[in-house]
Amino acid sequence: HNHTTASDGDHTPIKLVQRHKQHGVRLMAITDHDTIEGFFQLKQSDIPTNVTVIPGVELSVSSIVDGKKHHLLALFPKYAIGCSNNYIEFDSKQFKFEVTQTSQFSDLQNFSDSLNVMRKARIERSKNYFEKLNEIYNLNLDFNEFCVDNQINMENFTSEASIGRPLIAKYLVKKGIITCSDEAFGKYLSDDSPAYQALPKVELEEMIEIVNKIGGMCFIAHPKLWGYDEQSMQKHLESAFKAGLTGIEKWHSVCTYEYDCIGTMGSDFHGPTVHPDVEVGKYQNNTITGEDIQKLLHC
Ligand SMILES: [Zn+2]
Ligand SMILES: [Zn+2]
Repeated sequence: HNHTTASDGDHTPIKLVQRHKQHGVRLMAITDHDTIEGFFQLKQSDIPTNVTVIPGVELSVSSIVDGKKHHLLALFPKYAIGCSNNYIEFDSKQFKFEVTQTSQFSDLQNFSDSLNVMRKARIERSKNYFEKLNEIYNLNLDFNEFCVDNQINMENFTSEASIGRPLIAKYLVKKGIITCSDEAFGKYLSDDSPAYQALPKVELEEMIEIVNKIGGMCFIAHPKLWGYDEQSMQKHLESAFKAGLTGIEKWHSVCTYEYDCIGTMGSDFHGPTVHPDVEVGKYQNNTITGEDIQKLLHC
């Protein structure tokens, strides 16, 4: 799972795909926060050969079990583009996956439109962050400048990218208030910060059902990242699988999690600004089976 300039990544969608090709990756997903726009941009261009790109989105959701948050990856392999024959080679076997009928493609577009509501909430939240940070820490931050930097239009609440906390961190670095993104989270932007601004809650289980209904599949991203104890995690996963979860992101650039289900691998690549140490195509695990891939692609 990867991010582009459509959310808080550094690379345009086409540059991101080129980077994967350079690193020998054949199958990848674009999963920006709350938006599929990066994939739609990519669809208009000629993408490098031998790379197949699955559209997707990374959503902030909370478990109905106890309200704790998760990131949910919604993937839509049947709308994948790229590799002209739509075959993936694995262990010298080939797996074919279906190509979209244009009539169904509108489902993805409609889903994408509904995500724009979430984008609006993110913009409003970033404005609240600026007000809070100025009020509590006297930082004198200029929200208008942030809007210009990120092409946010406050009249119709549109933006070039999906506006998340990493972009606020980037702005704080630019202003010389802190030196790196981690420091921004440590000092000002974490969930425990007095300036913390929550996003409107979307339930994990409800979102899984929505995504499944339009032919997508869901994976819980980096399950270990939030540091939940094993007991809570089990309850979250049971509840999510009951709602139709396909699997989890077992291998991620900062954490791995073993569970008996289909697993995906995610570098969670954003580019050098957000996580300078993360590279694409590195976080693989050779225990993923051909059967896993087949289940993934025959959706
Ligand atoms: Zn995430
Ligand atoms: Zn991510």
